[in-house]
Amino acid sequence: MPIGSCNLICEGTGNDMEFISTRDKSKRVTAAQAIVQGISEEGGLFVPEKFPQISAEQLDKLAGMAYPQRAEYILSEFLTDFTRAELYECVNGAYNERTFDTRYIAPTVKLSDTTYLLELWHGPTAAFKDMALQLLPRLMSTSAKKVADGKKIVILVATSGDTGKAALEGFKDVENTEIIVFYPEKGVSPMQKLQMVSQEGGNVHVCGIDGNFDDAQSGVKQIFTGSMKNQLAQKGMMYSSANSINWGRLAPQIVYYFSAYCDLLNNEEIALGDKVNFVVPTGNFGNILAAYYAKKMGLPVGKLICASNSNRVLTDFFKTGSYDRNRDFHVTKSPSMDILISSNLERLLFDLYECDDKAVAALMEQLKNEGNYTVSQAVKAKADEFFWGGCCSDKETADELKDCFDRYGYLMDTHTAVALKVYRDYVKESGDSTKTVIASTANPYKFSGAVLSAVRGQDVKADSDFELVDMLEQATKCPVPENLASLRSKAARFTDSCAKDGLESYVKGILGL
Ligand SMILES: *Cc1c(COP(=O)(O)O)cnc(C)c1O
Repeated sequence: MPIGSCNLICEGTGNDMEFISTRDKSKRVTAAQAIVQGISEEGGLFVPEKFPQISAEQLDKLAGMAYPQRAEYILSEFLTDFTRAELYECVNGAYNERTFDTRYIAPTVKLSDTTYLLELWHGPTAAFKDMALQLLPRLMSTSAKKVADGKKIVILVATSGDTGKAALEGFKDVENTEIIVFYPEKGVSPMQKLQMVSQEGGNVHVCGIDGNFDDAQSGVKQIFTGSMKNQLAQKGMMYSSANSINWGRLAPQIVYYFSAYCDLLNNEEIALGDKVNFVVPTGNFGNILAAYYAKKMGLPVGKLICASNSNRVLTDFFKTGSYDRNRDFHVTKSPSMDILISSNLERLLFDLYECDDKAVAALMEQLKNEGNYTVSQAVKAKADEFFWGGCCSDKETADELKDCFDRYGYLMDTHTAVALKVYRDYVKESGDSTKTVIASTANPYKFSGAVLSAVRGQDVKADSDFELVDMLEQATKCPVPENLASLRSKAARFTDSCAKDGLESYVKGILGL
């Protein structure tokens, strides 16, 4: 029995999968259009009109496949306007041993009798964003050939660190695309900055801005909606987005939940049909939403555990049914989850409201104007059935990280440690002994300072990030990923910077407008 009743209400008539907007479901587009456009024109997010069902028999078949084949199989259900040859090319170009440091792509590791880690950080930038951003550029240029009249796609990215590098790595030298990344000059770690400014590729541009992440984001948004659009069209170009509101970033994330289940089957940790819980360290709600979609497609999933740091807006939402962003913003040791507006929650609401686009549009309007909203009793009850939300402080995160390393010799990053801590709280409260997979979202060396301080049980400072990397390697004997180690010898290619109101003229200069 599929969860939610969206399937009954929104079911399309044709054979091709169509995507509808969460704020106006009369807006229907193909997968290729959804990917090229990124977001619906009235501000809604594209969701599939129905969720294909994967049977136990199909799941068994998936278990016999390698990761790229699993991806091709699941994605073909959604991207019905792609040919099998196109999908094959996209998937095998994204997931291989040149781009990832293991042929398993996203391996599942056993921590204890009931707990497993799904390692999503074996890609080129050592964070889970690679799982989607290695594939998205390929999906985008294939889509553009179908629906963009040969226009060149210009990707504009505002980043606080991780997304920028993963997007650059994904889009570098991808045919018919150009990518421009803006980062806050003083707001990223030295490691993150070096990752970006040393980027190779003929179609990439990186520019620091004299402002914070919000300035970068609002500058980029202004360009998206401003008058340059027409000038761009005359030159045979168009803008698109590489952030997690794009369906092309969400779809690839559904795959690894199926893949983890298959791995547990193959290792005889579970039997076909057994339920598995997933714990996901959450910021923008993209990763955990993909797990929910996998469950909707028939994957035997028990609870979805949504883990937050001290920016606990989602924990409060799952506890009370009220979402309220009017609160202090905390800078934490798990910075990729420092977020107060979780954009992809909108897609969950659309589902729990049984595709009521007007209800979702009203909630989003209220969020924009008042900064808060409360869902109906019925929706709250449904959310409780599927989700459990929890959070923890930096201190609890560090203690958990250390405890896990001391006990099992497994070194994890701070985001994953948040998830492990929240999972333990969940087990304490519920007594649930279902086998559970924790999404591990970054390699620990990406956050060497915080990880080393946790392992040592006290704050450690050093002159450079590479010094911290060396100290962490000495302390733990865990291998440093090649893509981070090799940064040491890389020269900065990009030294551009601009004022926070200078983004548009910078883009014009790059594009020759
Ligand atoms: C982006 C990110 C997250 C949060 O994922 P969402 O899909 O935004 O919820 C968690 N951990 C790491 C390391 C990330 O880079």
